Amino acid sequence: MATKLLLTFAICRLIVTVGLTLEPTELLRLGLTVDPFDVESASVDFGLMTKVEPLAVLRPSSAKDVAQLVKAAYESSHGFTVSARGHGHSINGQAQTGTGVVVQMSGVGSGGKPRVWGGDMYVDVWGGELWIDVLKSCLAYGLAPKSWTDYLYLSVGGTLSNAGISGQAFHHGPQISNVHELDVVTGKGELMTCSKEQNPELFHAVLGGLGQFGIITRARISLEPAPQRVRWIRVLYSNFSAFTKDQEYLISLHGNQKFDYVEGFVIVDEGLINNWRSSFFSPRNPVKISSLGSNNNGGVLYCLEITKNYHESTAETIDQEIEALLKKLNFIPTSVFTTDLPYVDFLDRVHKAELKLRSKGMWEVPHPWLNLFVPKSKIADFDRGVFKGILGNKTSGPILIYPMNKNKWDDKSSVVTPDEDVFYLVAFLRSALDNGEETQSLEYLTNQNRQILKFCDEDGMKVKQYLPHYKTQSEWKEHYGSKWDRFQRMKMKFDPRHILASGQNIFTPTFLSSSNMMVMDIPIPIKQKARESIDF
Ligand code: FAD
Repeated sequence: MATKLLLTFAICRLIVTVGLTLEPTELLRLGLTVDPFDVESASVDFGLMTKVEPLAVLRPSSAKDVAQLVKAAYESSHGFTVSARGHGHSINGQAQTGTGVVVQMSGVGSGGKPRVWGGDMYVDVWGGELWIDVLKSCLAYGLAPKSWTDYLYLSVGGTLSNAGISGQAFHHGPQISNVHELDVVTGKGELMTCSKEQNPELFHAVLGGLGQFGIITRARISLEPAPQRVRWIRVLYSNFSAFTKDQEYLISLHGNQKFDYVEGFVIVDEGLINNWRSSFFSPRNPVKISSLGSNNNGGVLYCLEITKNYHESTAETIDQEIEALLKKLNFIPTSVFTTDLPYVDFLDRVHKAELKLRSKGMWEVPHPWLNLFVPKSKIADFDRGVFKGILGNKTSGPILIYPMNKNKWDDKSSVVTPDEDVFYLVAFLRSALDNGEETQSLEYLTNQNRQILKFCDEDGMKVKQYLPHYKTQSEWKEHYGSKWDRFQRMKMKFDPRHILASGQNIFTPTFLSSSNMMVMDIPIPIKQKARESIDF
């Protein structure tokens, strides 16, 4: 009772602060908490660059809880915002809000367990479910989703609001191309089921929609028989055009005679190759970049990363299949690194790196990440200007680079990609360190991101940001280009008061003026004193 009173008192203060029109009892009925732990964790994200405290947090146990809250916000005479938060792995405060309530979608007790429909080859999952738990539930039936992200401790609703990409996307498309149906709570508080056939406008708008049109409470995800094992191979290139030619060749293959996963990364820093995801490069046998011909190439190497899935019953043919595929490639002959592991260990590989970084206090540091989709016709210019130019020889984290086929992306979804048949993801996954080295500081890396974007702009590359971050609506209009009119129309239809996912900074809630919105982001100082180099 005392706790309840305390909570009521705290909520009363909130009501005074923001002028919510709800009675304290109504807020309690909605299940809101102002528990300091919940509020603190909802006010930061993986980026650790902005801190914005919500007024309260909802931990829903069902879609009905979410709908009640959003309806209350929609009908409130003063108005308050509602932001779904998956696992808070955004970089720039996209799941934060300072003018309303955060709905903590992932976590114990939310939404129910994944329900696998083996005969129909799909699974129904709660929007806040983490992909690692979706995987575990499906594996119990010998099944697995087809398209992944590199890291599985992300929520289904969070990745479907962006796209969800990894090395399988060239073949299966992004995760948003592998969804049959969604339940969504719109900005009016209505719970709607949508698919390509039923309420298709909402379905397409929500996929890649940055949380703007509704909160995903259930997703029906397509499955395939789960492979048992994975042969995981890395080969090196010193020649960028040979590297991209091979990557593009590999993503053009269909049928069984292809790899199942195609990614790659850029190595501009010798420390990185011997540390990052170190399952390949033994500390006792370090790889010397100089011995691999990178000296003739501005010190830069490129690593192609490929896998072939297999079942133990087909184990005897896997070597020949891989050899036949590798024969067609032009990598440095002495640079083949191979490992073999269970499928689940491959999919969950980044978590290993996370545990290592956490143990060194290097996970919770600022992450000024930059993710770009670069058209194929401009990727060589990008190499010259950025990898061999702007970066120098220091990176502060991995740089991923891999191509995808545009025809695997549904143009009706809200995501924007370059206007070419093939485009590359280039991901600068930086960690800022407070170790006295200027090139690893947050300021330096943020500046470098700006320089990269400026270079792309001046070169007329027509890159598109993935996991985009902009501060003004005119930048968003430019980002969406010809999709902007539809995006805006869908917003008017499904979230007319602009109360959802205001942390994306696309639309100002109708109860606020735009100048109010901009003061919500208060930068926090970097607390951590990480001193070693990053090996994530
Ligand atoms: P949050 O950060 O909590 O939310 C992101 C946005 O989605 C917010 O606007 C939020 O309001 C909205 N949202 C959240 N849940 C819902 C919902 N249920 N319904 C509607 N809107 C919702 N991305 C890739 O594509 N491929 C990768 O390989 C990849 N690897 C990553 C590795 C790491 C270590 C990290 C930190 C991120 C990675 N990402 C990757 C990026 C990731 O997909 C996005 O940051 C994603 O938004 C994170 O999901 P989340 O559940 O933490 O979402």
